[in-house]
Amino acid sequence: MTFEELGLNPAILSAITACGYTTPTPIQEQSIPLVLAGHDLIATAQTGTGKTAAFVLPALELLTKKSTLPGKGPRILVLAPTRELAGQVMESARNYGRGIRPRCGTLLGGMPYREQLRLLSAPVDIIVATPGRLVDHIERGSIRLDRLEMLVLDEADRMLDMGFSEDINKIVSRTPANRQTLMFTATMEGDIARLAENMMREPQRIQLAVSTSSHALIEQRLHVTDNLTHKKELLDHLVRDVELTRAIIFSATKRDADELSRELSRNGFPAAALHGDMTQMARNKTIDRMRRGGIRLLVATDVAARGLDVSGVSHVINFDLPRFAEDYVHRIGRTGRAGANGIAISFASAGERNYLERIERFIGKKLPEAQIEGLEPKTSIRKPLGRSGGPRKSGPGGAPGGRFGKPVGGRDSQAKPWNKSAKPAGQKPRTASAARHEPVIEYRSRRPQA
Ligand code: AMP
Repeated sequence: MTFEELGLNPAILSAITACGYTTPTPIQEQSIPLVLAGHDLIATAQTGTGKTAAFVLPALELLTKKSTLPGKGPRILVLAPTRELAGQVMESARNYGRGIRPRCGTLLGGMPYREQLRLLSAPVDIIVATPGRLVDHIERGSIRLDRLEMLVLDEADRMLDMGFSEDINKIVSRTPANRQTLMFTATMEGDIARLAENMMREPQRIQLAVSTSSHALIEQRLHVTDNLTHKKELLDHLVRDVELTRAIIFSATKRDADELSRELSRNGFPAAALHGDMTQMARNKTIDRMRRGGIRLLVATDVAARGLDVSGVSHVINFDLPRFAEDYVHRIGRTGRAGANGIAISFASAGERNYLERIERFIGKKLPEAQIEGLEPKTSIRKPLGRSGGPRKSGPGGAPGGRFGKPVGGRDSQAKPWNKSAKPAGQKPRTASAARHEPVIEYRSRRPQA
């Protein structure tokens, strides 16, 4: 199928050509005709599938016809969970709409009100907003939604996860009942179905299969961890593996990425951080250093690692599990590229159990649990806590947020995570903890024991 066959306006078609797109992606091919026909739609599709154009293009098509309603509120409203995503949607609308020149803008949390109020003082066609800030504007009376023709919820599952459900309901209650509603989500689980039921009329459904086939060459393992100290000990063990040629280590926060990379460097492993607080130039420089072999370990956050393409990454290590299952798939895709084998290792503490379950539902399989002799976990993540000793005092290491500066009590006495002498040298027999649901793979580091 071609874009011409989708029946889009010539001004939109030439913008698509200018973007270099020749054929619609599967999500575009399936959703655009349904949206143009006026249906409500729920599409299960991940980022990277072309989902933005799947709703922006028919939205622009709608704008080629004049509104008959008076007022200055938006005709199209897109709700997005984060400023970054909202910014990307706006950019796409401007790009694809360059021949139509829609009046558009963003209403984002954390941004100054003044410009937003200026935007809303004149008629506007497209608004892309984060829910909290839009509710602020509704309550201040600076926006009305009675002219709305199309409401799009982008990454709806993520918005619910972030606690926006009440805001979304408030927003929907201010829109005309005859609006068209489109919902894009990575999963249909949880409260999504209920949300959809409340706000959509006989929605058409599109489900794009999650493609994990490209990950066939990636060996995935899970290490259950007791606390932050345990995570660091495991990492210390793993980065000594001679087969680890290049690794990307994912942490939950920018601050943790900085601190963890500093700790690794201090302990003799060339490492650097990559996160959104760094300038683009600093990020490029770091990536370049890794490509040239100057650093072996990159400690990154999800945002910074999107689209990162460094060849020869032998390992991806999830020091912290991602909150969103989709990010897990993105992360592990950094290894095993271009037909090469890769290893993806995830650490999960009791506090990350929900994230783990979400990931496993998303990828459709359980991550096989691995253990390293002498570094076996004392807790189990798959059973209620308390059966096998309970967590150590220092608590789960999974909670994000500035943990590296704090002293962490821990396994063994005076354990210093990076202190080789504190490491057990293959002594302790494996605990009889194998009575779990999942097979336990046991492996040893190939490094010679110190
Ligand atoms: P998205 O899933 O919307 O984040 O889009 C992922 C990427 O695919 C973006 O960089 C788009 O510019 C690009 N893209 C979207 N549609 C097409 C298409 N039909 N052909 C080629 N690239 C596309």
